[in-house]
Amino acid sequence: MISFNTPPYTGNEDQYVLSAMRSNKISGDGKYSQLCHQWFDKKLNCAKSLLTPNCTQALEMAAILIDIKAGDEVIMPSYTFVSTANAFVLRGAKIVFVDIRPDTMNIDETLIEQAITDKTKAIVPVHYAGIACEMDTIMAIAKRHHLYVIEDAAQGVMSTYKGKTLGSIGHLGAFSFHETKNYTSGGEGGLLIINDDKFVERAEIIREKGTNRSLFFRGAVDKYSWVDLGSSYLPCELQAAYLYAQLESADVINNNRLASWNTYYQGLKELADKKLIELPFIPSEIEHNAHMFYIKLKDLSQRQALIDFLKEQEIMSVFHYIPLHSSIAGEKYSRFNGEDQFTTKESEKLLRLPMYYGLSKTDIAHVITQIKAFFS
Ligand SMILES: *Cc1c(COP(=O)(O)O)cnc(C)c1O
Repeated sequence: MISFNTPPYTGNEDQYVLSAMRSNKISGDGKYSQLCHQWFDKKLNCAKSLLTPNCTQALEMAAILIDIKAGDEVIMPSYTFVSTANAFVLRGAKIVFVDIRPDTMNIDETLIEQAITDKTKAIVPVHYAGIACEMDTIMAIAKRHHLYVIEDAAQGVMSTYKGKTLGSIGHLGAFSFHETKNYTSGGEGGLLIINDDKFVERAEIIREKGTNRSLFFRGAVDKYSWVDLGSSYLPCELQAAYLYAQLESADVINNNRLASWNTYYQGLKELADKKLIELPFIPSEIEHNAHMFYIKLKDLSQRQALIDFLKEQEIMSVFHYIPLHSSIAGEKYSRFNGEDQFTTKESEKLLRLPMYYGLSKTDIAHVITQIKAFFS
């Protein structure tokens, strides 16, 4: 059987997790958390990075940091994971969806401005499949209208846009280290990226249950107490230890995935040339991280037929998001601005093929052969 995903594992995870277990500090912000923070601070050149138990909670922290209140509006694509929306709905926001671009499945930057009202507080671009949104345009719109930009870069670790690492462009950014992502901290994990200095102190407070405990540990205050809203947003050291092993091999993982991605692309090009399928589009001036390899079929029923066909050959392929605006909660908490020209239609065509660190060339060749067999 060729599974759709296998969590990344590089070899040093055992040793580091064991060493964290045997240290005297296994709650958050010990040695391995610090090593991860240093790695990300350098990579992202950000004001501060903070590990979180998952990306969902990094987004929740972002919503608290920008002071989302009841009635505020937040613009994002409907073709995304529920957490992108939930994090803001939890603080009372109304979600305003705009259509996606059919070429990248990312928010259509040319439709954002017409969705802005006097209640709009933020734009949340989602870098789908690790392929960057059109960030220059989005940042310019945000500047003109005094809005915050929060990058949902859950899938975008190690990708770049015009040389800048994803997550480091907006005011805030969020990564995921869930087992389905390119790097994992042992199943669940996330990172909040702060690119605007003004958020740093408050982010530490929010993450430490609303207390100024971080300042206390640094000796900046002589006792710590409850000073603001907050929750517990620290992962434990075991998660950080697992992740650090993967960060040390970040390029090895990235290059391996890119090689698999390119093998798929070359192997399936023939079908795309014959217009039987569509292949992913990578805009110029961006580098992606091969988070996902997807193809697009004619429609929903052809996609299901291919899923079933591949399953018979023991190849697991999966579709992705049901657009949020058409869900039960979506109807309650959101509105779609403008026309849904591509979100629903394109999402019904998209199929994700097996993709993970260490996927063998033989398996990829087998998947390609079977997809060709389906069309012959
Ligand atoms: C995976 C994912 C999340 C959530 O990540 P968790 O770490 O599981 O909370 C959020 N947004 C997007 C776009 C994702 O792909």
